[in-house]
Amino acid sequence: MTVPISGIHHMTCYASDPQENVDFYTDVLGLRLVKQTVLFSNPVEVFEGEPIYHLYYGNTTGAPGTAITFKPPGTEATRGTIADGEVGRGQVSATAYTVPPGSLEYWHDRLTDNDIPVHGPKERFGDRLVQFRDHDGLPVELFEGESNLEPWTDGDVPEEHAIRGFYGATLRPHNALETGQALQALGLKEVGQEFTPQRGDWTRYVIPGADHSKYVDLYNTPNFHEGSWGYGTVHHIAFEVPDMQAMYTVREHLRQEGYSVTSTKDRKFFTSMYFRDPSGINIEIATAEPGFTVDEKPENLGEELKLPDYLEDKRDDLDSRLIDIEV
Ligand code: ZN
Repeated sequence: MTVPISGIHHMTCYASDPQENVDFYTDVLGLRLVKQTVLFSNPVEVFEGEPIYHLYYGNTTGAPGTAITFKPPGTEATRGTIADGEVGRGQVSATAYTVPPGSLEYWHDRLTDNDIPVHGPKERFGDRLVQFRDHDGLPVELFEGESNLEPWTDGDVPEEHAIRGFYGATLRPHNALETGQALQALGLKEVGQEFTPQRGDWTRYVIPGADHSKYVDLYNTPNFHEGSWGYGTVHHIAFEVPDMQAMYTVREHLRQEGYSVTSTKDRKFFTSMYFRDPSGINIEIATAEPGFTVDEKPENLGEELKLPDYLEDKRDDLDSRLIDIEV
């Protein structure tokens, strides 16, 4: 069957400090902060009443395929609850963006000017890329390529070089066979292999029919250490479905393939469900609709704290305790 996955929807990561996170993703990478909110999964019980921020960055609307989200501490008391993570097997080990062809020299200089060490340009599967780490050590890659996603152009990066959304992601599996099967269950097709002597081998998967955010590379490094969760690591990757009907189709298909998939959850900006590849990678499926303009005007996205309805009566208390951030 054709699985109705249309691209990568978002990736969600940990961060150690909300202001450093805003500064890196808006000032350095030139993305737009499209939503300031707190973690929806019952912050009161999980964090003893202390909220955790949930910040979303993307293009003008935070369209699927552009959205990266972070969970930095919300209050001083929560700083210690987020560990220093280590990227390793069982995780999404790098997030990759597309920039227009000919932009890597600009980016190399821009990042270097911001005291960020840059590796490359180098090549993978015939495309040029540079690699660096964010303020917490999270691996980020910029690939030259084509994308039909519009960039955010009110930032510091000139339009001709601005990030166009995701190119894809790298996963470091515990078991490349199992993770490959999970990707195939999602309809992804294997399109190539590359070998790095002494290090590991790469298998590239593509989302058929997607015209952006479509590559998932498995980097098989059996002797590399296991990852641990915390800031500087990706918590999960979410794939996009256009609507709820497609969501149910994917869920039925995954269950038939033997995966245990959660019920659907209302995340206000999209609806989600989750499953785990047996090799440890957290995978989410999320709807394109309704998007980040569901509770804010497009021109005001990210300007003020937005809350799910069940937390609205706690707004004053939350607002008074949240670490101030400046956009
Ligand atoms: Zn998610």
